[in-house]
Amino acid sequence: MESRLTPPTAIGALIARCEELIADLDLGNVRAWRAAHPGRVVIGYLPIYAPRELVHAAGGLPVGIVGAGEELEIVRGDACFQSYICHLPRSVIELGLSGKLDSLDGMIFPSTCDVIRNLSGIWSLSFPKKWVRYLDLPQNFDASMGGVFYRGILEGMLRELCELSGVDPKHADLRGAIRAFNANRRALRELYALRAAEPWRAPTSEVYVLVRAGLLLPVEEHTTMVERYLGLAKAREARPLDNARVALRGAFCEQPPIELVKTLERAGCYVVDDDFLPMLRWPERDVDESGDPLDALVAAWLDTPLEAPSRYTRCNAEKGQVLIDTVRSTRAEGVIFAAPSFCDPALLDRPMLLGALDRAKIVHTSFKYAENTGQMQPIREQAGTFADSIKLWGEA
Ligand code: SF4
Repeated sequence: MESRLTPPTAIGALIARCEELIADLDLGNVRAWRAAHPGRVVIGYLPIYAPRELVHAAGGLPVGIVGAGEELEIVRGDACFQSYICHLPRSVIELGLSGKLDSLDGMIFPSTCDVIRNLSGIWSLSFPKKWVRYLDLPQNFDASMGGVFYRGILEGMLRELCELSGVDPKHADLRGAIRAFNANRRALRELYALRAAEPWRAPTSEVYVLVRAGLLLPVEEHTTMVERYLGLAKAREARPLDNARVALRGAFCEQPPIELVKTLERAGCYVVDDDFLPMLRWPERDVDESGDPLDALVAAWLDTPLEAPSRYTRCNAEKGQVLIDTVRSTRAEGVIFAAPSFCDPALLDRPMLLGALDRAKIVHTSFKYAENTGQMQPIREQAGTFADSIKLWGEA
């Protein structure tokens, strides 16, 4: 039935399905997966990176948790955190205490920032019977130091996940998991490349929800969905608008409301690159499928030239160079810093990135949001003025 739909209609149906998944705070599709796979585990993971391959290899379903968006009233979550920190941890606690995350058997809290570290403690106290792992991602990238440390952590996690799911670690298919996630990341890289080349075919308001659905779906199903979208988007009839091409930074953890992304587009911006949801896109290369799988996952974290506020950048490499390279390769005409309110990692990095952009003569503008931001008019005005400045004078 759906295959007979024309591309715009079929894309609309596919994107509507993604929006429905994202809006379902009760995780209906995760509950359905659980019911269809008795005995297997569901493990949540927080931003900004966790090796999901370990959960998959143990027969489980990894589920990305990035907060509650705009729809949940926060009451108990506010009681756990100060008012001067971001929104994500309070909405994660609210989701947990209201039973919406009951389908999860455990949680992985990566060492993204102090807030997520504290959230892992509050989660452990609130749900003492659930499996919890604080994932200390190394900031030393020497294989004999950070690599040895990280491998020990991955071995321990895999062992515990196998115990949880009743899988003999000898039978955990880690190589198969790496293959499945490599295929997914390849599809996402192709999606980002299409958007950078022809953003009118793959607008960010669609790309964002399509990628975000990957937090909730089995990886194989998500890969099929992305590949289907790619086929439809390439075939759609769409003409370019005279929009400003911008790269967006700062939104790597707490996610902006979908309406914010649509607002940027309505304001005349083509977002041709972003740092949304690195947990689904890192590492931005294939993990080695031939050697020892755990060593391959270790190397994926140590060797990838990632630049993110939660990852140490060597002192001899100028902070911001990766961003400048991305701006050049995607032909972005400016950068929008859109960071969550009170996000220390994003806001502490921003002056260094702005300095690097200034030296490279790349224009930029900045604003803050929260996942439940409702008032879009100021953002529309600011982004619209930025886009107009680029189009009229080539600078903001
Ligand atoms: S939004 Fe920023 S401060 Fe808040 S949990 Fe994420 S990285 Fe930490």
